[in-house]
Amino acid sequence: MRALVYNGPKDVSVVDVPDATIEAPTDAIVRITSTNICGSDLHMYEGRTTVEQGKVLGHENMGVVEEVGAGVTRLKKGDRVSLPFNIACGHCRNCQRGSTAFCLEVNPGFAGGAYGYADMGPYDGGQAEHLRVPFADFNALRLPQGTEHELDFTMLSDILPTGWHGTRLAGMEPGDSVLVIGAGPVGLMAALSAKVQGADQVFVVDQLPDRLALAEQIGATPVDFSKGDVVDQVMELTKGVGVDRGVEAVGWQAHDHSGVEHPAGTLDTLVKAVRATGGIGVVGVFPPADPNGPDELMQEGRIAFPFGEFFTKGQTMGTGQADVKKYNRQLRDLIIADKIQPSFLVSHEMSLDDAVDGYARFDAREHGYTKIVLHP
Ligand SMILES: [Zn+2]
Ligand SMILES: [Zn+2]
Repeated sequence: MRALVYNGPKDVSVVDVPDATIEAPTDAIVRITSTNICGSDLHMYEGRTTVEQGKVLGHENMGVVEEVGAGVTRLKKGDRVSLPFNIACGHCRNCQRGSTAFCLEVNPGFAGGAYGYADMGPYDGGQAEHLRVPFADFNALRLPQGTEHELDFTMLSDILPTGWHGTRLAGMEPGDSVLVIGAGPVGLMAALSAKVQGADQVFVVDQLPDRLALAEQIGATPVDFSKGDVVDQVMELTKGVGVDRGVEAVGWQAHDHSGVEHPAGTLDTLVKAVRATGGIGVVGVFPPADPNGPDELMQEGRIAFPFGEFFTKGQTMGTGQADVKKYNRQLRDLIIADKIQPSFLVSHEMSLDDAVDGYARFDAREHGYTKIVLHP
């Protein structure tokens, strides 16, 4: 089958690889209809992770079941499904409690597994014609048959639940004001999620005009960090009060408007801009170590943020990858009911063969490339 593989920094290619096959009775093989390039794929693309050469990338996958193992009882050939980026067993203590992003079984020695991702287990990704889905009955979410809402449903595998998770980690309630740092796909999904949950005001920080325009399009107030200090801007917009909740949707490669990386920059801003007793949700990626990090602290995975102010203000912070299964069923039904339309951010649809070009343009943050969906 054809698949996109990682060769080295800024080097991916679409090549023939061995077909995905049933390896355990609980597996299914899914023919991929849509698979997205994710902002977090760029961490690997840029050579900032330990991902191995030859890995098939792609963790935002949906498609149609082609084949099921002997132990699969619920899922059937022909079912249209969304696959959470988390691979989870369904029976370990974390899965039993709903924390499927921290499954203890699928990636020995580590809590959590995913398709096509550094340090997340031996699983190939879905930027390919077919994908092997472990524990398929547990992991696959069935979708209505046909092709309707394809571009909305393709957001159910990661970024819509992840954006929603950011607001939940922050403890958002109806009527709250919410500051989202980063208007990439996850930040925009967090802003949309806050809106759908009844946020009073939503502010979205970025400097790219196309992204800020999308934030405005969904009713958020854009805050351009190249035009001045974000905390000052937010304080002015909130009459000196600050916001109730903050969502971090950038991660450790956060940079200032001249391009210099500041791993702690977003947390610094959030602690200052969120009011006392407010909440912060961190869904941007922070790795346990980054040997190529911009400072000695980050090379060891340490982040120097104003913990004293955080403590003094009695703020709370929630972190970590989204347990997609906690949200994807309800979000699917909100899509079907036309209550949420995440597909607004899709800027490009491409064939798998064009994905190499797609990576390069998305990585360069080329104007207009907000979200790329591949159709293998
Ligand atoms: Zn993703
Ligand atoms: Zn598990």
